[in-house]
Amino acid sequence: MHTIQNCEICNNSEFYLYIKSEDFSVSQKEFKIVKCKNCNFIFTNPRPKDENLGEYYISEKYISHTNTSKGLFEKLYQLVRKHAIKGKFKLASSLIKEGFILDIGCGTGEFLNKCKENNWETKGIEPSKIARQQAQSNFNLNVSESTDLGEIEEKVDIISMWHVLEHVPNLNETLEEFNRILKHRGNVIIAVPNLESYDASYYKKHWAAYDLPIHLHHFSENSISKLFKKHNFKLIKTKGMKFDSYYVSLLSEEYKFGKKNFIKSFIIGSISNLFGLFTKRGYSSTIYIFEKGN
Ligand SMILES: [Zn+2]
Repeated sequence: MHTIQNCEICNNSEFYLYIKSEDFSVSQKEFKIVKCKNCNFIFTNPRPKDENLGEYYISEKYISHTNTSKGLFEKLYQLVRKHAIKGKFKLASSLIKEGFILDIGCGTGEFLNKCKENNWETKGIEPSKIARQQAQSNFNLNVSESTDLGEIEEKVDIISMWHVLEHVPNLNETLEEFNRILKHRGNVIIAVPNLESYDASYYKKHWAAYDLPIHLHHFSENSISKLFKKHNFKLIKTKGMKFDSYYVSLLSEEYKFGKKNFIKSFIIGSISNLFGLFTKRGYSSTIYIFEKGN
């Protein structure tokens, strides 16, 4: 295990315990999440060493990397995903008409393919071999294995990370690379779980989006804005993800009671969306759009 001594946002070294939770999907081990006393950034600490993180991922179980449509849950999930890809592309094309996009953690490549079909230049990064090979063979996409952003020579208009930044060990180095890779006034699109959402406060330690220990950081709008501001990025837009609350509630119910509960998950997910719509808590997950300054 590796203990973080200094907050990655403000460098402060004093934290208090925020919540204890478990790895409900693979190891069943307990992990701690702490909160920085100075800037309120919330992160997993201690966490597995970078080289051991892979042990906590099960690729067959990791639904975003698979395309099997077995049960009703998976079928629904695939349907929602199709709809989500359209929404993601619409968002990207609201920033620039036809650009060059780098999708970090592109999975099986559906989003990048949508961009490519609309005459965008595309590049993907995907460390999972199964997902990468599917992206390459299904859509003939340019996808590299290496997550070392220092190897990227192209300059791009947009960098996207859909539910990926919470998995990335070195936040500051990553944002420095964003600055180098992005063109003048380029954009970063980041989707991450929102720990201030209603479903987070309802499920507490069973909230599936804590996803320990592979989620290393647990963002709020405040903390992610501070992080990006530190690297000269300006937050220009946020957008709630309205389907995530249902998916997260389903998984959380399963972690809490050992079985799926579709009706209750639908109710909790809907309440979460109402809170997202009418209060400042935000939705279960949020998309942030940042612009590179100067
Ligand atoms: Zn801090």
